[in-house]
Amino acid sequence: MPLDTRRPSTTTWHSLKASEALERLGSSPHGLGAAEAEARLKEAGPNRLPEAERRPAWKRFAVQFNNVLIIVLLVAGVVTLALGHYVDSGVIFGVVLVNALIGYIQEGKAEKALESIKGMLSPEAVVLRDGRRTRVKAETIVPGDVVVIEPGDRIPADLRIIKARGLRVQEAALTGESVPVDKTAAPAPLTAPLAERVSLAFAGTTAVQGHAQGVVFGTALHTEIGRISEMLSRVETLDTPLLRQLAHFGRMLTAAILGLAAVAFLVGTVLRGYSMEDMFLAVVGLAVAAIPEGLPAIVTITLAIGVKRMAGRNAIIRRLPAVETLGSVSVICSDKTGTLTRNEMTTRAYALADGAVEVAGTGYAPVGTFQRDGTAFDPLDDPLLARVLVAGAVCADALVEETGAGGWTVTGDPTEGALVVAAGKAGLDPETLRREHRRLDAIPFESERAYMATLDADPDGGRPNIHVKGAPEVILRLCGTEATAEGERPIDRDAWHARAGDLSSRGMRVLALAERPGAPSDTHLDEAHVAENLTLLGLVGLIDPPREEAMQAVARCLSAGIRVKMITGDHAMTARAIGTALGLPGAGEAMTGADIDATSDEDLRRRVREVDVFARATPEHKLRLVTALQHDGSICAMTGDGVNDAPALKRADVGVAMGVQGTDAAKEAAEMVLADDNFASIAAAVEEGRTVYDNIKKAITFILPTNGGQAMTILAAIALGTMLPITPVQILWVNMITAVTLALALAFEPPEKGVMARRPRPSGAPILSGFLMWRVAFVSALLLVAVFGLFLWQVKGEGADPATARTVAVNMLVAGEIAYLFSSRYLTASAFSWDCFAGSRAALIAVALVVVAQAAFTYWPPMAFLFGTAPLTGEHWAAIAGCAVLVFLAVEAEKAVVRRREQ
Ligand code: ATP
Repeated sequence: MPLDTRRPSTTTWHSLKASEALERLGSSPHGLGAAEAEARLKEAGPNRLPEAERRPAWKRFAVQFNNVLIIVLLVAGVVTLALGHYVDSGVIFGVVLVNALIGYIQEGKAEKALESIKGMLSPEAVVLRDGRRTRVKAETIVPGDVVVIEPGDRIPADLRIIKARGLRVQEAALTGESVPVDKTAAPAPLTAPLAERVSLAFAGTTAVQGHAQGVVFGTALHTEIGRISEMLSRVETLDTPLLRQLAHFGRMLTAAILGLAAVAFLVGTVLRGYSMEDMFLAVVGLAVAAIPEGLPAIVTITLAIGVKRMAGRNAIIRRLPAVETLGSVSVICSDKTGTLTRNEMTTRAYALADGAVEVAGTGYAPVGTFQRDGTAFDPLDDPLLARVLVAGAVCADALVEETGAGGWTVTGDPTEGALVVAAGKAGLDPETLRREHRRLDAIPFESERAYMATLDADPDGGRPNIHVKGAPEVILRLCGTEATAEGERPIDRDAWHARAGDLSSRGMRVLALAERPGAPSDTHLDEAHVAENLTLLGLVGLIDPPREEAMQAVARCLSAGIRVKMITGDHAMTARAIGTALGLPGAGEAMTGADIDATSDEDLRRRVREVDVFARATPEHKLRLVTALQHDGSICAMTGDGVNDAPALKRADVGVAMGVQGTDAAKEAAEMVLADDNFASIAAAVEEGRTVYDNIKKAITFILPTNGGQAMTILAAIALGTMLPITPVQILWVNMITAVTLALALAFEPPEKGVMARRPRPSGAPILSGFLMWRVAFVSALLLVAVFGLFLWQVKGEGADPATARTVAVNMLVAGEIAYLFSSRYLTASAFSWDCFAGSRAALIAVALVVVAQAAFTYWPPMAFLFGTAPLTGEHWAAIAGCAVLVFLAVEAEKAVVRRREQ
């Protein structure tokens, strides 16, 4: 039957039987074949909603003019035109246009950078292809595909559920109903409204509990959500608290400057006797001089560069403000398994009622001996151990496969993979075992339940067996007896707790394995079946070594004044051993989830200061911990992967989701996603976050003195009654071309050496500290003295014409900026080093560009005409260069004094 993928939504998928739905869609419970899926993809098109339209180019360009300064400039341009200064007004309009163009291009680049990063987070889903679970891009899903749903998954298309166990779906995005809805495979009444079509799961909603499989009947625009809204994906706006703070600062500054300009105008015309026209040009110059026009663009670009660099280090930013917040993080709360450790589980030991067994071998290769008291033996000669091995392999979903190059990989949960590998080491074939012990039903593992159980057929045709594995505390409670070589006997729980404690204290993750015969007619398994009377077979201890790079990253965080807290579902002793190996200072002590429950909020706030390890913790505990840490004044980054981690991730200052292991729900709640699930990437992101903040600070401290120096020069000229040392159009040139070019170089600054050796920046600290304000004032004054000094020397001393004197003044200003640029690369460290001058390619390129631009400004006749400049002589240049060196030395001297004071 040809497949009609454009079937309208009014179909009755919810009221069909699951088998009918599969048949109509030309599919089966094993899903589609790969070739068929490909063919259907060609026909149906990608499962993707059209992107929200980007702002059209003309609008982005127009927005550039929506800025008080530009309006001031345009007014100035019009008035200058009316006064007959055609060249000046032409330059003003030209510069306005250039500025808008620069802003437009830079913003475009920043938006593109962010979008390319969004592309790295394209959603994926697990489908059955030829009966095998296959992870595919959600885009490639087609009608007829069978999708496997786990808790936390975002439903990738509209599905008819064909199998479900405890599935609950959060459908608020679609129906507005905030309580998750139960879903089943049974047909719903034909007349059921959308919210009651319990046999359907809709694209864009999130599974919060349970497991299911469903066959796709609608993709892309043919989904419910696709019909409601054709533009779901919004482009993240370029907006952060810092940018807002700067915009506010910009508005205040503009207002203050306009006020100052008005006063200067009055003083100039009334007291100093300037003509209205001259004074008007002077105050336009003042306004233009004092406003840092290029700053917003520079900050945006610096943030975008930071986002890109973080992505290069496996930390993908989902929300731009996180870039800033990362710089001030003071506590990182991290999951253990897979983030701090490698999540490469290896079975190391078994504890049985009659003794301990050690297992050798590394990785997932099924090679390694079993030893008792240091002597190797064949594990299959020990019937009890053999039972344990079989139970472990049968009660597991992981697949262990050989890769091409002789390596081995695990698909699925590494904990289970380790049990399957152990069976392989004993000479058992997991495939054969699973065929013989055919699975009839299962209760999948969930952290909250802490065990997994399967109902398996008996190979000899006897009663089916229930196999259970899970956390020892939980399983021991469910057991009445223990297995020994001689048979079963009442369980000695204390002895088992001691054995479990012994394995845990060696840093091992411990699982208990238990078993029970089912009733002959059993085909279904639920929690009541495993609630009591299990027989404990034994314990298994797995190692999961800490990641080498995580250990180093922990050390770097500690030296950066950032505390690291480990939060894990594992046993306290295991957690402490791993915490110690990682070098957590507070790992001598662990708080368990139960301890947290028994502690008041107030006490918890105190305890979180000392304790670094939290064990047997659930997502609710994470939420309480973040809250306690925040109340204590910490800026908190928190990792998570499960659907239940979402509230803690949202609450944290920087929620960090795992890119590989993480659920869609966690990723959506997070500010940042780790492409490699590695703790070291968080530390790298913090380092980049600090660098971004430093660079913004450097750019601001660099650019403001230029404005300060110019404004002071003009005020000085008005006060002293001399002509203007720099004309308004020359000021525009300096501010919009040279200062911006030079400041942009600072956006590319690499992290400073000591960036991870200082304490986190207090949150809410103003970007310009008192010290930096002083620096701005100091350098402004230096530039005033140099520029005004050289100008007076030219006019009064040398009798130069105004054009030459002004050209000297402008070039002095730019040379002073170049000198100060190198000083600005380090806020307090000395700039007397080879690295400072040659270490930044961006700075060298910027300086080269500016030198060429200044040469053109000075010598190229068309520019000389536009800007009223005149050619300079060698003597002029020598004086300018000499003064620039003096500016540099003065700033370095100030730094030296500051450094001495700080010691
Ligand atoms: P972390 O928080 O460090 O990432 P985790 O969340 O992986 O740890 P859980 O998965 O919640 O920790 O595991 C808690 C306990 O449940 C483990 O100590 C182990 O005893 C048991 N366990 C883990 N995985 C399985 C599994 N697949 N089947 C049965 N029991 C398991």
